[in-house]
Amino acid sequence: MRFKDKVVLITGAAGGIGIAAAQAYAKEGAKLALVDLKQEPLEKAAEQIEAQDKLLLTANVSNEEEVKGFVQKTKDHYGRIDIFLNNAGINGEFHNITDQTEENFQNVFGVNVMGVFFGLKYVLQVMKEQKSGAVVNTASNGGLLGAPGMSAYVASKHAVVGLNKTAALEMAEYGVRVNAVAPSGVNTEMMRRIEQNAAGDQAEEARKAFEASVPMNRYATAEEIADLMVFLSSDQASFISGSYYRIDGGQGAT
Ligand code: NAD
Repeated sequence: MRFKDKVVLITGAAGGIGIAAAQAYAKEGAKLALVDLKQEPLEKAAEQIEAQDKLLLTANVSNEEEVKGFVQKTKDHYGRIDIFLNNAGINGEFHNITDQTEENFQNVFGVNVMGVFFGLKYVLQVMKEQKSGAVVNTASNGGLLGAPGMSAYVASKHAVVGLNKTAALEMAEYGVRVNAVAPSGVNTEMMRRIEQNAAGDQAEEARKAFEASVPMNRYATAEEIADLMVFLSSDQASFISGSYYRIDGGQGAT
């Protein structure tokens, strides 16, 4: 029970990785604050998570006031925040740069960059005061590599890596660790949307091609990503900060 009575705040908690992570922390005794855009999917997700305490919070992470609000509500309810998974993200539309639109770029940056920044801004205030805490930002292998058709997403996830490093440096003296995970394709709804965006009615073919580009020839499971998040936020990772970890079936080695 590594997380007995620890308070874990997760954004994007109704999505594939968010649910798997919430389940993993709950199994080890954590109390959860789960954030996503809409109440109904959040309730459906919560039904799949057996935790001693679950606080459900609807908010749009791209709205600073809403982020401030869910951080305050978590603090009011539990009195502290021990672990923060800064995880909500969107893939956006599929366009090469020559056809990219400002609207798509702004939408993706609104969630993936401003959302991550707002989450850090308010949660780190709480952790700084506590003089303890661990953050895991969800980046992507798209934050380390390029991906044709996904310039907005790729640029946004590179920005997450920059925020991750800077936050770690600013928080080290307060005993707060900040790390990121950088997964390749994970078998969640996000990959279904990316396959669809990339290839329309050939989505199944796109899926095979994406999986074949991974040396281990498959997508990750959400549980595999959750396991890495859990490790990075645990006391076993007590000297790890400012790092990002590829979890990509060998793709980064190609
Ligand atoms: P998902 O689509 O299943 O879940 C994402 C969740 O984020 C959804 O529940 C969605 O409602 C929520 N969300 C989106 N915009 C939001 C907003 N503005 N405010 C609050 N919540 C919002 O996808 P996932 O695979 O679970 O993705 C989780 C994270 O992992 C994302 O940051 C994503 O970029 C990253 N990631 C995913 C993959 C992949 O292949 N699935 C690979 C690398 C990184």
